[in-house]
Amino acid sequence: MRETSEPQALSSSWLEIHRKVKQFTEERIYPAEAILQGPDQHLAKQALTQLINEAKSEGLWALGHAREIGGQGMPFMDYVYINEVIGRSEYGQLVFGSYSLQDSIMLQQYASDKWKNDFLTPLVAGDIYPSFAMTEPDVASSDPTQLKTTATLDGDQWVINGRKWFITGAHMATYTTVMCRTEMDVSGHRAFSMIVVPTDHENYKVVRETPVLGINGGHFEVEFNNVRVPVENLLGGRGEGFVIAQKRLGPGRIFHCMRWLGQAQRAFDLMCERLHQRQAFGDSLANKQLLQKYVFDSYSEIQSCRHLTLQAANRIDKGDAARLEIGMIKVVGASMLHNVIDRAIQVYGAKGLTDDLPLGRMYRHAREARIYDGPDEVHVQSVAKQILKRYRDDGPGIDFAERDAEIMVGESSLGY
Ligand SMILES: Cc1cc2nc3c(=O)[nH]c(=O)nc-3n(C[C@H](O)[C@H](O)[C@H](O)COP(=O)(O)OP(=O)(O)OC[C@H]3O[C@@H](n4cnc5c(N)ncnc54)[C@H](O)[C@@H]3O)c2cc1C
Repeated sequence: MRETSEPQALSSSWLEIHRKVKQFTEERIYPAEAILQGPDQHLAKQALTQLINEAKSEGLWALGHAREIGGQGMPFMDYVYINEVIGRSEYGQLVFGSYSLQDSIMLQQYASDKWKNDFLTPLVAGDIYPSFAMTEPDVASSDPTQLKTTATLDGDQWVINGRKWFITGAHMATYTTVMCRTEMDVSGHRAFSMIVVPTDHENYKVVRETPVLGINGGHFEVEFNNVRVPVENLLGGRGEGFVIAQKRLGPGRIFHCMRWLGQAQRAFDLMCERLHQRQAFGDSLANKQLLQKYVFDSYSEIQSCRHLTLQAANRIDKGDAARLEIGMIKVVGASMLHNVIDRAIQVYGAKGLTDDLPLGRMYRHAREARIYDGPDEVHVQSVAKQILKRYRDDGPGIDFAERDAEIMVGESSLGY
């Protein structure tokens, strides 16, 4: 199967790795997906471990993690491209060790020496898994200044109380990073801090799994009931929780969007293949103009989104926070993903809805994308506000083309 575009910006030294990751994904992960998502947990674990071991032995593990923490130190822009291929299968992140990237950067930058020593090396090696606990069932967590989970200092220990949900990977996590209110007399974002909690703590409880659209995707409700942890479990400083979260989420959303492109590309490949295979009313489906429009719409949405995502990544690489661009691609990327998979299902007719193809499951995951990491509406509002503020403060005639051109010519500022 062919990509809709070659990754021309990828450094030649990494291009070979890109091809290897794609080949590995298509030849070894796709055929294992039925077992990986099947009912037999033991078999699934065995299959995953085998794939991980193969990825490691073939030099495809932890490509984007910095060398000093045990990764391969792939430059950011090259790694952005790799994420598209990793994203083709929902298991790619686990198999290639990229699942822990955001959390390991967070630990490396903000954790105390003890937690770095205890967690960082095994995290990058894939021996342990993280989880990130922010959202709460009882408050609109798209407005996280309302979060109710508290951490109060008692001597040299934080005492944490609260309930979180939609905590992805809580069933396999060795520790969770919890967003807690620590500053009781401060309002707004500066009232919150992040604290590391080992999940074997007796007062930390995984309450239940919440299946999503019929898939047990590993999202859990958890409870903190007087969980006491040492003061050194605080990440960064008091009140810095949201600053750290933003740093974690920014590049993370770029990786999300690239993985969505991988999913969309897989659906598009399947759609085009079917259009050539299937005949109806005396002609190939590929010759039906209504279906050719699906090809046009999907191709143009994928390509537009790919370029927008790469442009946002470029900004990050040059040291810009790219808030406007990231907010925009989060919304248009999720919509593109849904539309492309939806058209592919339509082209397959009834078969598109069955588990004989990956499309049904991909479609359900695609629906999640409009909600996690902030629902569409929050990003739409934030992007519109940023643009309107510029028009209000700088006057009419903002040259967005010039602004984009400036960032494209700068030097890379990222060391990983
Ligand atoms: C698959 C999946 C995985 C997740 N993983 C994690 C995880 O690992 N850790 C974690 O902490 N959280 C996780 N989440 C939670 C996710 O981040 C939240 O669901 C999200 O932030 C929205 O919060 P909420 O569900 O409370 O919706 P609410 O905040 O209750 O919002 C409900 C709806 O209100 C509307 N709305 C909200 N604000 C505005 C506005 N300003 N303008 C207009 N409309 C608005 C939107 O339509 C929104 O969908 C996950 C969610 C999903 C679906």
